[in-house]
Amino acid sequence: MKKQLVIVVTLLLILLLIRRVFGTTITNITRLLPRHATKTFPSRNKSQIEQIVVHHTAGAENQTPKQVATYHVGPNHVCDSGCPGILYHYYITRSGKIYQVNELETIAWHLAGQNTRSVGVVLAGNYDNYPATRVQLKALNKTIKAIERKVGRSLELTTHRGECPGCTQCPGDYLQAQIASV
Ligand SMILES: [Zn+2]
Repeated sequence: MKKQLVIVVTLLLILLLIRRVFGTTITNITRLLPRHATKTFPSRNKSQIEQIVVHHTAGAENQTPKQVATYHVGPNHVCDSGCPGILYHYYITRSGKIYQVNELETIAWHLAGQNTRSVGVVLAGNYDNYPATRVQLKALNKTIKAIERKVGRSLELTTHRGECPGCTQCPGDYLQAQIASV
């Protein structure tokens, strides 16, 4: 009986360990997203990264990375004739799924004047109207840790509005307040 208990406890511990190691599932869809036919983003070295900037899509809750990429690649408010690709590095859905949408070495244009030093993380939804979900904030936390692991040091956490006061509402009143607790 005692031996069986030891086996069960050991199996549970192994399961917990597997969950811990593989729990941070970040799906890299960088190569699967629409890209501009001729334009490409400039590149950087990971050592140039200093901060993580949180954004919201300000769109529908169920908007997909592909839909946002399609919008960014076409003529839009940032690039008259379309941008090279999606303008963020990570995309977090309402259900907490994490997608990498650009390599960290790519300088994506999500924060005027500070793109070379910044990683852009966007949460799907409009956080002027409702708060981010608990799983979404958990996913944001995991994403931050994963980015810091990749660059090999801790980074500053900020928001679009935090870096550009008065020029944008992004990432929305609710998320702006929630970031403080991440
Ligand atoms: Zn933004």
